[in-house]
Amino acid sequence: MSKEKILVVEDEADIRELMRYNLEREGYQVSECESAEDARVALETQSPDLILLDLMLPGTDGFAFCRKLRAWDKTARIPVIMVTARNEDADIVAGLEVGADDYITKPFSARIMLARVKAVIRRCADEPVDGKNLIVLGPVQIDREHHAVKIDGKDVVLTLSEFKMLDLFVRRPGVVFSRYQIVDAVHGEDYPVTDRSVDVQIVGLRRKLGDHSAMIETVRGVGYKLNLE
Ligand code: CA
Repeated sequence: MSKEKILVVEDEADIRELMRYNLEREGYQVSECESAEDARVALETQSPDLILLDLMLPGTDGFAFCRKLRAWDKTARIPVIMVTARNEDADIVAGLEVGADDYITKPFSARIMLARVKAVIRRCADEPVDGKNLIVLGPVQIDREHHAVKIDGKDVVLTLSEFKMLDLFVRRPGVVFSRYQIVDAVHGEDYPVTDRSVDVQIVGLRRKLGDHSAMIETVRGVGYKLNLE
């Protein structure tokens, strides 16, 4: 049985109860807060392994709270799954941009919620540590110091943008990045690049990945992620 601790931040009691019931059945330890303000207090003393965060909360909403969680040292690295009632791409993109790791949309099935929770906890556990110069993930080997990449042990020449993109994906496998986040990582902030140019770069990167081109998965309406399966 898993023993990971999960903090549920959700103002609707029925949904909190449903989440708790299903998570506890899987062996997770669950604590609940009905607002971002309560969660902020709870997090002074608790260190959950994951936060399930509703976006539409009274008071501080989920977007603003997620941004605070990322800015606060104690919580900066705790994975967040946002829970949104509106299945709108714009909300999902906005949530990912303030630092959420994944999302579920209401109404959700217990099976989907548990699958997302398990996946996010797992990939955060094997996340490569930032600052390491050599990263090996599946067939990909990235040497940050020399800006060199090997696929299946063979040297592959990438442009600087392609390199930065691949490096971004490999740092956080399975995490969905919006086009805006990709542009940001590749060029630094304020660079006027269109969404379309990210798509073009992805085509180039996929081609260089050869047999492993499917590793870079398109998440429709949202962006891209690295998929190892
Ligand atoms: Ca709500």
